[in-house]
Amino acid sequence: MLERLTKALQGFKDSGNYRTIKYLKPISDTRVLYGSKEYLNLCSNSYLSMHKHPLLLKSAKEAIDEYGSNPCSSRSVSGSIALYEILEKEIAQFKHYKRGLIFSNGYMANMGIISTLTGEKDVIFSDELNHSSLIDSIRLSRAKRVIYKHRNMNDLEKKIKKIQAKGERFVVTESVFSMDGDSAPLGDLFELKKTYGLHIILDDAHGTGVFGRYGRGMEEAFNLSGKMDVHMGTFGKALGSYGAFVLADDVVIQFLINRARTFMYTTALPASTLAASLAALRIIRKDTSLKEALWKNIDYMRGHLKDAGFDLKESVGPIIPIVVGNDKKAIAMHELLMKKGLFLQAIRPPTVPEGTSRLRVTVVRGFTHADMDYAIENLVKIGKKMGLI
Ligand SMILES: *Cc1c(COP(=O)(O)O)cnc(C)c1O
Repeated sequence: MLERLTKALQGFKDSGNYRTIKYLKPISDTRVLYGSKEYLNLCSNSYLSMHKHPLLLKSAKEAIDEYGSNPCSSRSVSGSIALYEILEKEIAQFKHYKRGLIFSNGYMANMGIISTLTGEKDVIFSDELNHSSLIDSIRLSRAKRVIYKHRNMNDLEKKIKKIQAKGERFVVTESVFSMDGDSAPLGDLFELKKTYGLHIILDDAHGTGVFGRYGRGMEEAFNLSGKMDVHMGTFGKALGSYGAFVLADDVVIQFLINRARTFMYTTALPASTLAASLAALRIIRKDTSLKEALWKNIDYMRGHLKDAGFDLKESVGPIIPIVVGNDKKAIAMHELLMKKGLFLQAIRPPTVPEGTSRLRVTVVRGFTHADMDYAIENLVKIGKKMGLI
C-alpha cells in the first residue's frame, strides 16, 4: 500500500495538485497569522465577519459554564441539551419552515437527508457542479442518479421527461454554488417542481445570512421562502459558528430523527457551538446592517475586478471565481499573492473540474476600503502578469 500511495502522491506533486495544510491563527475578523506574518484573508467563508463577534464569544463561554464542554452522548441518547430545541425553533421560524433539526455539520446533514429520504425506486437529478457532500450523499443513496448541466433547466426538463421513476423524483442543488458563486434558477426550478411533482432538496450553505432582504437565504431573493421540500444550511459560514440545520415538514423531521444515521450515531455538538449559532442567528434577525455592509463590499470588489477585465462568470454574491485553468499557474498566482500578504488558496481538482483551477476570492463584511483597494491592486497586477486580463 505505501508504495502505491507514495507513487500517487508523487503524481499529485508533478501536476501541481499536491495539498498541504497551512496552520493559521485568526487574529481579527479579516486577518490570519501564518508563520510569523500577518495576512489579509481573501478566502474565508465568514461573509458577515462574525466568527470573532463579541456576542458569539460571550454566548459560547457562558454555555460552557452552564452545560459543560460537550454533552458526551448522541442526541438520541442523552446529548440533546435544551439549546438544540430553541435553536431548531428559531432557525425554522427565520426561514419560514415548519420544523428544524440540527446536524453536527453540513456534510453530515446532506448525508443524512439524501440517504434517508430517497430509496432505490427513486431518481435523483443532480446539478453537475454540486458540492462534494451532495455528490457523496447521492452515492450513498440507492436511488438512480441523473446529472444535469449546471443551472440548465432545459436540460433538467429534458431528462425528467426521458427518465421514468417507479418511485419519486428529487432534485438536489445548491442555492449558491460554492466554487462558482452563481445561483440556481430557483424560480424556474420551482415551476418544474409544480409541473412534474418533483421534491427539491436545497443546500443553502452559501445563501444563508447573505441573500434576500432579511438574509434568510437565496429562497428569499426568489420570493420562495419556506417553499422547498427539504432545506439545508449551515451555521459555519456567514454565521461564524459551526453546525448545520435541516428544515422541512414535521413528518420529514420525525423520519430523520428515526432513521438518519448521521444524526443518530454521532456525539451531540458542544453547547458552546449551539450557543454561538443561536447568538449569530439572533444578531442577523434583529439587524440587517451587517448584511448591508457586506453587500457594499461585494459591489465594490466585483465592480473593480470586472472593470479591470476579469471574467467573473455568472457569479453574483461574495464568492468571486477567478478561473486560471492550469493547476501550476494557479499555484504560482497563490504564491505571488502570499508574498504580498494576501492569503488566497488555489482551488484545484477534485474540488473543481479538471482544467478549471482557480482563485476563489471571497468578500467579507469586515474588509475596509483600504483592504479591498490593496487586494484589487495586487490581483490586477498578478492577473496581468499571468495573462488573465
Ligand atoms: C461547506 C458546505 C457544506 C458542508 O458544510 P459543513 O458544515 O462545513 O460540513 C455543504 N454544502 C455546501 C454547498 C457547502 O459549501
